[in-house]
Amino acid sequence: MLAACSLNACAKDKSATPAPVADTAQAAVAPAGQGASPSTRAAKAVVNGTRTMQYVKEIIAYGPRYLGSPGHAKVEGYLRSRLKGDGLQEDAFTVDSPEGKFPGRNFIAKFPGKKDGIILIASHYDTNYPLRKTSFIGANDGAATSALLLELAQHLRAATAGGNKLDGYSVWLLWTDAEEAVQQWSNTDSLYGSRHIAEVWEKDGTLKHVKAFLLADMIGDADLDIQRDGNSTPWMEDLVMEAATRLGYQSHFFAQSFGGVQDDHLPFVTRGVPSADIIDMDYGYNDSFHHTTQDTIDKLSTHSLEISGDVIWEAVQLINERH
Ligand code: ZN
Repeated sequence: MLAACSLNACAKDKSATPAPVADTAQAAVAPAGQGASPSTRAAKAVVNGTRTMQYVKEIIAYGPRYLGSPGHAKVEGYLRSRLKGDGLQEDAFTVDSPEGKFPGRNFIAKFPGKKDGIILIASHYDTNYPLRKTSFIGANDGAATSALLLELAQHLRAATAGGNKLDGYSVWLLWTDAEEAVQQWSNTDSLYGSRHIAEVWEKDGTLKHVKAFLLADMIGDADLDIQRDGNSTPWMEDLVMEAATRLGYQSHFFAQSFGGVQDDHLPFVTRGVPSADIIDMDYGYNDSFHHTTQDTIDKLSTHSLEISGDVIWEAVQLINERH
């Protein structure tokens, strides 16, 4: 992904320094969200960080997952086998990039709910193509959140066993492909998978049923500090902050904000889907591990995976209650 700062003068891409939080954003620390009354339901931790870390290990064991690589094909097979029976849909498409054409594939696991509507939770699983000649394996950038979605699948599978339906909206987990730029980040060289599926779902009418889009990116960082994103829908960001606060994790959220992160939520934001990019763009000192061979599993923690996953789970419950 790429970040632009609108609150100060920085205009660099991924190394952009977070801007201080504006007063309006700080107001989000108080549980709020469209004047909704506070939830009386107890927030519940569901994510097992140790098991999630095991999924991370399994993903990175395949090596780099850039487009066209053996590791990419292996991870496709891995997702397919892990999600057997989860109403798995595969969305194959062509990545038409400045470096040529590659096969791309999004994966969608569907868990039905009683309410009419869909909550999407997404993560990209590919690794950066320009770094293909290095040992870059994207432990945090792609693997951690792909693993987190597998862990959430475990809970959704249990909740829908025996033909049961979830109490709220259907939840669809989306593993996007080709989030990374193939050459240099631009509107046309980035977000290939999310742009493709958003367009498909717009055409076939699915998008009208999507109530919310929650994107997870780089949130396995042991030093977890998730920034507020100016490109996300404000009430969704408020709701994420409220979910974090209910779990006592608010110190990891929104001490800083970005004017606008370009990430897989954008094709949904531009089509009017309420969206939140839950992202930590401060990975290592001054984001120094991001898109480097230092993005390895020792920089992650089971606790951060639990914080991130539980906040996403709680955000889903709050959306079910209010929207
Ligand atoms: Zn990346």
